[in-house]
Amino acid sequence: MNRLAALGPIVRQARPPWLLIVGVLMTGLLALGLVRLGAWLSNDLRQATPGSRDPRTRLAPAGTDATPGIPAKRADETAVEELRARDLLVPVDGVTRDRLTGSFDQARGERRHEALDIMAPRGTPVHAVEAGTIAKLFWSKSGGHTIYQFDPSGRYAYYYAHLDRYADGLSEQAAISRGTLLGYVGSTGNADASAPHLHFAVFKLGPEKQWWVGEPIDPYAIFNIGSGPPH
Ligand SMILES: [Zn+2]
Repeated sequence: MNRLAALGPIVRQARPPWLLIVGVLMTGLLALGLVRLGAWLSNDLRQATPGSRDPRTRLAPAGTDATPGIPAKRADETAVEELRARDLLVPVDGVTRDRLTGSFDQARGERRHEALDIMAPRGTPVHAVEAGTIAKLFWSKSGGHTIYQFDPSGRYAYYYAHLDRYADGLSEQAAISRGTLLGYVGSTGNADASAPHLHFAVFKLGPEKQWWVGEPIDPYAIFNIGSGPPH
């Protein structure tokens, strides 16, 4: 008792300043923690958008076969209208417009797909959607054997990827016609080997006409003319 009584005044004397400092520090840390937790939670909610969790994504071929070098942007409606008027050929042999399914906005890993996947057996011929020039024959890790074609005006590029192989004699800078045989459907690059398909993209070229840079246009929107009167 004597010992406690002796300690008593010392404890009472030390308590007010230390408790105050510790209390202020703890309150500060707690407030900071709550702010950070709040920021983390809202960020998590923002990432869980319907687009990135779209169940259709799971049905799509495996792999992140997003079109390389093309920044994410909304498709240009004027460009869609212009390209619709050209009556582009569906590039995969035997596939009609009504069999196409849009997948432009689907997530492929960290990015948007920004292309149209046309499923077909390996070896199915792939034809040019319209006349133009072969800008580049390019091997890429994600796209495998790919072709970049410029349209006749040199303002748009068509991109064909995952090809099994190129058509014999196809070369860069060659002038081609609508329907020219370009290659064959495959699964080169990061496509699922059990689901061969043509990854087809369209993009509006920049002023420098670089084959790897452009604004993506939804090919499905171009092909999907809708149920209006035939033209
Ligand atoms: Zn694709």
